Amino acid sequence: MKDETKIILAGRHPHEHEGAVNTPVYHASTILYPSLAAIRGNEPMRYTYARRGTPTSTALEEAMMDIEGADGCVLTPSGSSAVSTAILSVVKSGDHLLMVDSAYYPTRSFCDKFLTRMGVETEYYDPLIGGDIETLIRPNTSLIFMESPGSQTFDVQDVPAIVAAAQKASVKTAIDNTWASPHFFKPLAHGVDLSIQAATKYIIGHADALLGTVCANGNVYRDLRHTHGLLGLCAAPDDVFLALRGMRTLATRLKQHEQAALEIAAFLSEFDFVREILHPGFEGAAGHDLWKRDFTGAAGLFAIEVDPLDEESLAAMLDNMSLFGMGYSWGGYESLILPAEITRTATEHNQTRQIIRLNIGLEHVDDLKNDLYHGFVRAGCIKI
Ligand SMILES: *Cc1c(COP(=O)(O)O)cnc(C)c1O
Repeated sequence: MKDETKIILAGRHPHEHEGAVNTPVYHASTILYPSLAAIRGNEPMRYTYARRGTPTSTALEEAMMDIEGADGCVLTPSGSSAVSTAILSVVKSGDHLLMVDSAYYPTRSFCDKFLTRMGVETEYYDPLIGGDIETLIRPNTSLIFMESPGSQTFDVQDVPAIVAAAQKASVKTAIDNTWASPHFFKPLAHGVDLSIQAATKYIIGHADALLGTVCANGNVYRDLRHTHGLLGLCAAPDDVFLALRGMRTLATRLKQHEQAALEIAAFLSEFDFVREILHPGFEGAAGHDLWKRDFTGAAGLFAIEVDPLDEESLAAMLDNMSLFGMGYSWGGYESLILPAEITRTATEHNQTRQIIRLNIGLEHVDDLKNDLYHGFVRAGCIKI
C-alpha cells in the first residue's frame, strides 16, 4: 500500500465507534474497573488509567507506528518533550552522548543544562561526519542523536553510514525527523532505533497545538514506554485529535509545500544578493545528493543567505511583510519568515552570515513571491 493511502487508513476503526469516521475524543482520568478481579489484575483491561492511554491516544500511536514502520510509539505534550523522552530512555549517568552540532536549539539546551546535571556527557559532532563518527565512539557512548536536515542550516546527514557505525559498536541511534516527516523519510527503515516528530509542525499542520511522538523499534520500545511512564507524560486528548485530523491531509499538504518552496527557492536564486540557497531539495544546493538518495520529498522550510543587512534594513523588510508572519515554529498552512540564530560548538560558523529562514505555507506562490520581492526592495537589496 502506498504511503498516501496508509495515511488515510492508519489508526482508524470506525466500527468500534458507532461508525464515526474519526476516532472520538475520550476525555478521561479515571477508568472504571468492572470487578475486584480486574482491579487485582486478574482480568485483562485494555485501559487502566487515562494517563497510560485511551482509545484516542491509541489511535494516534497506531497511526504513527503504521506510517513509520515502528514496533511502538509514545505521545508527549510537545516535540521538545519527545526529544528528551527519547534521550532519557537510553542514557544513564556516566554515559557519553554524541549530538549533532546542527541540532534544534532547545535540544542542545536539554543536553547542556539537564543531561550535564545527570552526569551524562554530550559531545557535539559535525553534521557532515558520516561514517567517521566511529572515531568519536567511546566505550561509554550509548546514543548517537541525529537531526537531518539540521535546524536553521539544513545540513543533510549520512544516516545509513552513521547507523552502520553505531550498530557495529552496539550504540543506539535516535533522529529528530521533523523536517521530512515520516512521509518523506523513514528512519526506522534505515535502522535508526528512535524516530522523533514534533507533531506540532506538519502532522498537526495548522499552528494550533503542540505535540510530540517517538516511534521505536523492538530494541528500545520497552525502555521508551517505561521511561515515558516514569516521567508521567501524556498528551491532551483534544491535541491528539488535532494530530489525527491533521495527519489525514499530510501527504497532500506536503506536496504543495514542497512545490511552492522549490519554486520560491528558484525565484530567489536568480537575485545577485542571494548568496546561497540552504535547501537540500534544491538542485545544486549543499546536501542535495544525499537528500536525493535517502528522501522521497522535501519540506517547505528552507533558508537563504543574503548579503549582510543592517538591523534597520532588515526591520524595514520584516516588519512590513503582508503574508509572511514572524514567529517561531513552522509547518502550518501560513508562511513565516525569521532571521536565523545559529549556535555551533563543534564546527565553524561565521556569525556574520545573514541567514533568513522561510516557512512556505499554502498561499498562492505568486503572492508569496510578490511579498518577498517587495520586502527585499524595502531592505534595499533590490533597487527599483
Ligand atoms: C519545533 C521543533 C521541535 C520542538 O517541538 P515543540 O512542539 O515546539 O516542542 C523539535 N525539533 C525540531 C526540529 C523542531 O523544529
